[in-house]
Amino acid sequence: MRAAPGFRQPPGRDCPAERRACGARGEAVCPSQGPAAAVAVRDSAHGADGGEGALKLYEYMAKGVLTSVGVPVPQGRLAETPEEAAAAARELGPVAVKAQVLVGGRGKAGGVRLAGGPDEARAAAAAILGMDIHGLPVERVYCEERLEISQEIYLAIALDAAGRRPLLIASARGGVEIEQVPEKDIVRRGIDLPWGLPPYVARQVAARLQLPAALTSPFSDIACKLYRAFRECDAELVECNPLAVAGGRLVVADARLNLDDDAVWRHPELPRTSEATELESRVRALGLSFVELEGDIAVMANGAGITMATLDVLQHFGGRPRNFLDAGGGAAAGPMAQALDILLATGPRAVLINIFGGITRCDEVAAAILQVSESRGGIPVPVVVRLVGTNEEQGTAMLRQAGMSAFTSMREAAERVVALAAAPRP
Ligand code: GDP
Ligand code: MN
Repeated sequence: MRAAPGFRQPPGRDCPAERRACGARGEAVCPSQGPAAAVAVRDSAHGADGGEGALKLYEYMAKGVLTSVGVPVPQGRLAETPEEAAAAARELGPVAVKAQVLVGGRGKAGGVRLAGGPDEARAAAAAILGMDIHGLPVERVYCEERLEISQEIYLAIALDAAGRRPLLIASARGGVEIEQVPEKDIVRRGIDLPWGLPPYVARQVAARLQLPAALTSPFSDIACKLYRAFRECDAELVECNPLAVAGGRLVVADARLNLDDDAVWRHPELPRTSEATELESRVRALGLSFVELEGDIAVMANGAGITMATLDVLQHFGGRPRNFLDAGGGAAAGPMAQALDILLATGPRAVLINIFGGITRCDEVAAAILQVSESRGGIPVPVVVRLVGTNEEQGTAMLRQAGMSAFTSMREAAERVVALAAAPRP
C-alpha cells in the first residue's frame, strides 16, 4: 500500500519523477518537476512519473545502464569519503562532484560542485557528504570528468499512462530551470509500441530543437538508445537533464532511470535501491505496511483503504499523522499488538486506531490493545480507538472500562485524537 499524495507535505519529497524527493515524506511539490512530471500529473493513478510504484536508480546506476546500451556518459567514480573523491580527481582530472540521492534538484540544493583538482574535489566531497537534500542524507558522491557545457538539452522517454504509450519529451532549453521552460519550447512525440522510435522521428525532433546539423545524428542515436533502455528495463522514465553539448559532442551529464516496480522481478540484472527509512524497512520486514511522516499522531488501521481514509479524516480535522501502519485486512490480534508496540516506539503525542472488524473480531482487537497496555504498565500517550464490525459492543466496552477513548464513529475518533494530541502534557 502506498501513501495518499494528500498526506505528503511540501516542500516536496515524493515527486512525479521522484519519490522521497517528495516520497513518503511529502510529495505535492517536487524540486525538479520536469516536463516528464507533467505527464504524471495528468494521470497520477498510474504514475507516469515513475514516482509511486517506481524503483528509482541512483544517477551513477542509471548511467551504468545507459553505458550498456551505448549512450555516451562521462567517466566517473563513486566516492564515500573526501579522500576517495580526491583519488578520483587524480585519475580523472577536473571533476563534477555530485551527491547521489534519489531526488532531483541537487544542483540548486548545493549537491553538485565543480572541482579543478584533487584538493578541490576533497573539499567538495567533504561539503556534500552528510548533507541533507530534500530530507535525504547524502552518503555517496559521484565524481565525473568535468564537462565544458555549451548547451543543456532536456531529453526523456516517459510512460504516458493516460495516452497508454511512451512519450519522447525534449527541449533545447534543459538544465536546472526546466520547470520554467514554456510549453511551446517543449517537444512531445508519442511513441507507438509496434513501431518503436524510428531514427527519422528522432531526427525530426532534433530539427524541432534546432540543433546544429552535426548533432542531428548523434542526437537521434542517443534518443533511440534511450528508448531501447526504456523498453528493455521496463522503465517508467528515462530522463537526461541535461543532455549536454560539450566540446561539440553530446554527453549525458545527468540521468534518471525509474523502473516499474511491478516489473522489477523480470530484471535480476538491474541494481536495487530502497527509499525506505531504517524503521520502515524493519517494520516492513514484519509484513506490515508502514510509512513515516512528519506529524505527531500515530495511525493504525486494518487495510489499505481504511488506512488512507483514516489519514484523510484525521487531516480533515486538523490532525497531522506522524506515520501510518496498515496491519492488513485480516490482521489477527497478535500482529495488531505488535503493530501498536511499534507505533508507541515512534514517540507520538497520541495514537489513533481505526478498525473495521470483519473476520477480525473487535473484542479480540480490544484485548490486544489492553494486553499491550498491561505489558507496558500503561500507555503513556492517549490512545483513541474506533471499532466497528463484529462484536463492536464488547470491544468498545472493554476499552472504555480500561479508560481508553473508544468510538464507533470515525469522525468522533478523529476529532478526539486531534484534541488530545493538541492538549498540553502534564
Ligand atoms: P540536478 O540538479 O539534480 O538535476 O543535477 P545535475 O547533475 O543536472 O547538475 C545540475 C547542473 O550542474 C547541470 O544542469 C549543469 O548545469 C551543472 N553541471 C553538472 N555537471 C557538470 C559538469 O560536468 N560541468 C559543468 N560545467 N556543469 C555541470
Ligand atoms: Mn539534472
